[in-house]
Amino acid sequence: VSSKEFCRLGWRRAQRHGVRMLLALFVVCGSTRAGEDPVAIPYDPAQTIIDAALGDTYAYDRLGELCDQIGPRLAGTERMRAAIAWAVQTLQQAGFDSVWTEPVRLPLWERGEEWARVTSPEPFDLTLLGLGNSVGTPPGGIEAALLVVESFEELESRAAEAAGRIVLFNPTWRGYGETVRYRGGGASAAARHGAVACLVRSVTDASLATPHTGMMTYADSLPKIPTAAITVEDAGRLQRLARRGAQPRVRLSMGARTLPEVESFNVVAEIRGREKPEDIVLAAGHLDSWDTGTGAHDDGAGCLITMGAARLLLQMGLRPRRTLRIVWYEAEEFGGIGGRAYFQAHRDELDRYVAALESDSGAFPPRGFSVQADSTIVQRLQTMARPLANLEAAEVQPGWSGVDIRPLVQAGVPGIGHRTRADDYFHYHHSPADTFDKIDPEALARNVAAVATLLYAIAEADAPLRPIGSATAAPGSHE
Ligand SMILES: [Zn+2]
Repeated sequence: VSSKEFCRLGWRRAQRHGVRMLLALFVVCGSTRAGEDPVAIPYDPAQTIIDAALGDTYAYDRLGELCDQIGPRLAGTERMRAAIAWAVQTLQQAGFDSVWTEPVRLPLWERGEEWARVTSPEPFDLTLLGLGNSVGTPPGGIEAALLVVESFEELESRAAEAAGRIVLFNPTWRGYGETVRYRGGGASAAARHGAVACLVRSVTDASLATPHTGMMTYADSLPKIPTAAITVEDAGRLQRLARRGAQPRVRLSMGARTLPEVESFNVVAEIRGREKPEDIVLAAGHLDSWDTGTGAHDDGAGCLITMGAARLLLQMGLRPRRTLRIVWYEAEEFGGIGGRAYFQAHRDELDRYVAALESDSGAFPPRGFSVQADSTIVQRLQTMARPLANLEAAEVQPGWSGVDIRPLVQAGVPGIGHRTRADDYFHYHHSPADTFDKIDPEALARNVAAVATLLYAIAEADAPLRPIGSATAAPGSHE
């Protein structure tokens, strides 16, 4: 047994047998300074956590179950209920101190049957996915000539041509944030000028003829017209036909509809803090997915990364000083409904949250964290993340945290977004290709290592990441 291993074994025992053992260990393993035993190696909890995570397949194995046995988990559906039951059982078996569900009410969107066909000049079928929240077509569908535009600006300049037509937006990919505006708002922009339906080129930077769905919203003041994503390949072909003056016509049939509200659930699990159980470090993913693919990267990965990280600490006997609370949210894909429900249910305890972390950028190799908090907190997190340099996961910068934790962050809780090297993310995102075979077990384990290390540092730190207690109660929290 090397001295480093000895220290690790000893540390585990110290966790069990308390302070005296810890002091003895400190003498043996304590910091090496000039003149001291040169063999002694300081105990390094971060490296111990990282080593344990890299040797553990728990998160990968459970993610495989979720994707392959439960499958797609559209918010509010029977498959989502199956996922919630699986989640509760899995979290209980993992040894969390408590596991519970909290109600979330949400409108149930149903895709129904859908198809689209180019009827002239030469007939061919389009591969499509209706967009979440879209209305359907009348039975039998809608047939109309296409107006193909590349941007909102082009639509405005050709507004007189839109009436009675199906508008196709074929925007060049300019990053997700920029390009997703056409998926989210294309239908109402087209309806404003009298269009009868709206198609959108899938929001992706690369395509093997796969459609990518996602949420859209209607402007209240305008007619709701049906809207769907088609493949990059089909969108390009239709634009080329239009430019050559071929005036393509499309028949679109969609059975989409929104049913009355149903009750579903967020799933919550806790490791109670050993000294300050009232202080909460929240770590989250969203359990719902689109109904296409099996939600492997989005966001089964985030669920298993956060939960796998907390479980690893339990397994290692590293129960932190503060409480670690895992939340698997419902209905993130429909605009963060589960995140808002959680916030409403927990308004009275906002002053107890030390930080909230969300993992929703897939299981690609880890990069680090982006932080929504003041610069002092960003700097403290940079220090805490330093041991992740060997994993190339130590990057901590100010930035976006997450959809589900947004209400908490807006109320003053420091928000932390787990970030990966997600260059390939949009190849799979919201498409039938977001499946378990796309998960690299080593990259997933490295993400668990990164998140476990940071969560432990936050939950264990002598001083909390922000001053907590009644003095910081969020304004309006007792409304
Ligand atoms: Zn997601």
